[in-house]
Amino acid sequence: MHELSLACSVVELVDREMRRQGRGRLCGIEMTLGDLSGVDNDSFLYSLQMVLERSVFAGVRVVVNRVEPKARCEDCGELFSPESLYTPCPRCGSYATRLVSGREFRLSSLIIEE
Ligand SMILES: [Zn+2]
Repeated sequence: MHELSLACSVVELVDREMRRQGRGRLCGIEMTLGDLSGVDNDSFLYSLQMVLERSVFAGVRVVVNRVEPKARCEDCGELFSPESLYTPCPRCGSYATRLVSGREFRLSSLIIEE
């Protein structure tokens, strides 16, 4: 239940942030999720909805920005979309690749109504 505990931490973070702001009503939260973050995005979002519905933030909208993974080959410089962390370069077959995006897992913003 890794995704459920992540969802709980996100809601705690939102709660802390709303207290810090001290005003306005939360309408939505925006998450940036990379497809290779190591988190199952679907079960995370399901858990997040569930935790939100049982909190003071019931009814809040969740906006998701999904980030497609991109990797660069250290040998030939090819930029490609890997299916996993271990996808070799499609151009030269090298495994010396570096992930440049796709690991994102963050709460990017809170949508607040004054
Ligand atoms: Zn290459």
